[in-house]
Amino acid sequence: MHEPTPTIVFKDGRKVPALGQGTWRMGENRAKSADEVRSLQTGLDLGMTLIDTAEMYGDGAAERIVGEAIRGRRDEAFVVSKVLPSNASRAGTVAACERSLRNLGIDCVDLYLLHWRGGYPLAETVAAFEELKKAGKIRAWGVSNFDVDDMEELSGVPDGGNVAANQVLYNLARRGIEFDLLPRCRDQGVPVMAYSPLDEGRLLHDADLIHVAKAHQATPAQVALAFLKTRSGVISIPKTGSPERARENRDAIDIRLTTENLDELDRHFPPPRRKTRLEVI
Ligand code: NAP
Repeated sequence: MHEPTPTIVFKDGRKVPALGQGTWRMGENRAKSADEVRSLQTGLDLGMTLIDTAEMYGDGAAERIVGEAIRGRRDEAFVVSKVLPSNASRAGTVAACERSLRNLGIDCVDLYLLHWRGGYPLAETVAAFEELKKAGKIRAWGVSNFDVDDMEELSGVPDGGNVAANQVLYNLARRGIEFDLLPRCRDQGVPVMAYSPLDEGRLLHDADLIHVAKAHQATPAQVALAFLKTRSGVISIPKTGSPERARENRDAIDIRLTTENLDELDRHFPPPRRKTRLEVI
């Protein structure tokens, strides 16, 4: 018997699971494509229905893998994609979104993000996002790799308050956002999407994490994801191209870390004591 997947509610009332799926590096190696599709489908079957992708990943190839995985079951999935900063002009954003829709084989992206800040004024990108929303091509928009000052600037832009999410690097080994960005996003009702929740796999070899995992008869990946589950307003999006590991990641939901476990994790992966610049990958 599985624990129900915890959910996060967006400002517009839509609910998503707090554990979704990433897709970076999918679609880059043909020999792996079938497993990648099966992995995403396994995740969907298990309730990890939020799928994160981007036009950048494999130059559209990851979006095509997502399209294949959700074919015939579009309504089960919550699809997130991202526009590259170099495309994020008013017209460029609209054109990029239309390309992404074609790659994904869908009519509307659930959440469309600016991948990171670039040269185009925020007001221009936001205007394009609002235009896409009116046209029914996206349901909501958000940002990625935005630190506190970027969020501040965004709130001063027309319609900037409509930002639905901020996707940033967050995992046990990179806890900087807990000092200021995470509380600020919570205050504003903006969910944080934790990318690289396994620190791109590096965390899995950490002796201290392995120690806590053993106590739970769990894997280090599961404890890293269970830790993020304890943070309110956070959606984590681990990537795996393996259906077995998708199952393993889903089972992280069933792990209940005790106060002692969390204290132990705090000792090994200390929370921030001061402001640090947002780390990015
Ligand atoms: P991650 O999810 O922290 O780690 C992925 C790595 O961990 C892969 O090598 C994967 O290998 C392995 N892995 C996954 N589950 C595992 C398990 N249970 N046991 C052992 N190994 C496991 O790193 P990420 O891909 O960088 O981040 C996740 C997603 O966040 C990305 O895919 C992307 O969608 C998003 N992202 C966004 C940004 C941004 O700028 N907005 C930046 C980076 C990432 P296998 O595939 O072989 O299982």
